Amino acid sequence: MDKPYILAPSLLSADFAELGAALDFIKARGGDMVHIDVMDGHFVPNLTIGAPVVKALRSRSKLPFDVHLMVTNPADLIEDFIEAGADWLTFHIEAERHAHRLASRIREAGIKAGISIVPSTPVSALTEILPFVDLVLVMSVNPGFGGQSFIEGTLAKLRKLRALCAEHHVSPLVEVDGGVTTK
Ligand code: ZN
Repeated sequence: MDKPYILAPSLLSADFAELGAALDFIKARGGDMVHIDVMDGHFVPNLTIGAPVVKALRSRSKLPFDVHLMVTNPADLIEDFIEAGADWLTFHIEAERHAHRLASRIREAGIKAGISIVPSTPVSALTEILPFVDLVLVMSVNPGFGGQSFIEGTLAKLRKLRALCAEHHVSPLVEVDGGVTTK
């Protein structure tokens, strides 16, 4: 890897009338994955992209699709997104009582499972699920809308997460989502 991070631009920042062109842009500008923010209007305000749109976009890009489900009932939707072509599928621990079961179902489908926390959820909430996921997504804004400012306390949270991972001898991909700038 020529850079110490993986860049996964979110389609939430794209012009929704030009999503295909946005995929080409991400590829041309060195994006490594395509981050797709799925919002259901319940878990978070706002409605965004559903599985049919992901399926339509799949044929346009070979980059991995990193699908972030900000939905109330992720278990009801994962099959649709797996079938649509997700390579990484992340759900929120705040939305799923049986996170271990759901992560296992995602992995059994042959793709990567991720778990996410909103800014108000402590890293310690991840202790039990950590060995069973491939990715941990730490929200660095309150989810719902694009274009928000990065919450500075996220950096301390990332340090705690690293320590927790070391303690459990696991090394999931750590994703930081929201308000990330070159700084
Ligand atoms: Zn996201």
